[in-house]
Amino acid sequence: MKIAETIREVREQVKKWRQEGLSVGLVPTMGYLHEGHKSLIDRAVQENDRVVVSVFVNPMQFGPKEDLASYPRDLKRDAAICEEAGAALVFHPEPEEMYHDDFSSYVDMNTLTGGLCGKSRPIHFRGVCTVVAKLFHIVTPDRAYFGQKDAQQLAVIRHMVNDLNFGIEIVGCPIIREKDGLAKSSRNTYLDAQERQAALVLSRALKEGRRRMDEGETDAGNIIQAITEIIESEPLAKIDYVEVVDWNTLEPVSEIQDAVLVAIAVYIGKTRLIDNFIVSE
Ligand code: AMP
Repeated sequence: MKIAETIREVREQVKKWRQEGLSVGLVPTMGYLHEGHKSLIDRAVQENDRVVVSVFVNPMQFGPKEDLASYPRDLKRDAAICEEAGAALVFHPEPEEMYHDDFSSYVDMNTLTGGLCGKSRPIHFRGVCTVVAKLFHIVTPDRAYFGQKDAQQLAVIRHMVNDLNFGIEIVGCPIIREKDGLAKSSRNTYLDAQERQAALVLSRALKEGRRRMDEGETDAGNIIQAITEIIESEPLAKIDYVEVVDWNTLEPVSEIQDAVLVAIAVYIGKTRLIDNFIVSE
């Protein structure tokens, strides 16, 4: 497996693969890989001849008060995980490689990005769309893999690919969890022992929401209330949002009919965690 730090190296490698008629899958990540990322790489390895994993903590998607500086990084470990999983190339650029001094073009979206995480992270999805568009142009994959863990991101990327005719298949992959239910996340490393325990409230609350829907509850307000009550019972938790939205438009719904995304963002101490489930009937 190769590690490339420049766009030129990636382009040259992909060109060779294309000449050999090989298909290419891309797994964009910010590194500090865990089983969630690995599930994406595994799926990509199954479905493509060659897999590129990008490891890039994208400064453009972090707000000024967010955790860009403290975001965990460990390229050596990441590379070992990628190699073990069967990736052919890790793309690990420095920020200067992706954003030269006079960089001034962005990919922005009028719909889908204003609610949910976009409310408290107003510049986040512009950064995500811009970097993912760049990665798509650099790697030109046949397929790209994204986790449902970041459900809004998955919906936004699908929308961008459709709007801008990227001709890349976007593959959504299920949420991988710890044994006790906590959704795996690089940010879980921020939690101390007490917070780690408190963080279980996210999956517990969603489970209750899901149970109520399975029992036939169709009033989104009642689902939101049930989830909110459970989260509020945890003293270390502070709700950013609890929402039930249409899975295609990400607009809030009051009556659950079509596919919906039930999504939450909760601060456990200073760490902001997200989780969700999708009901598609
Ligand atoms: P990140 O490194 O956090 O930007 O995540 C890179 C990709 O891995 C994104 O598409 C995430 O949705 C996905 N991902 C992160 N955590 C999980 C998880 N627990 N299960 C499935 N996919 C995940």
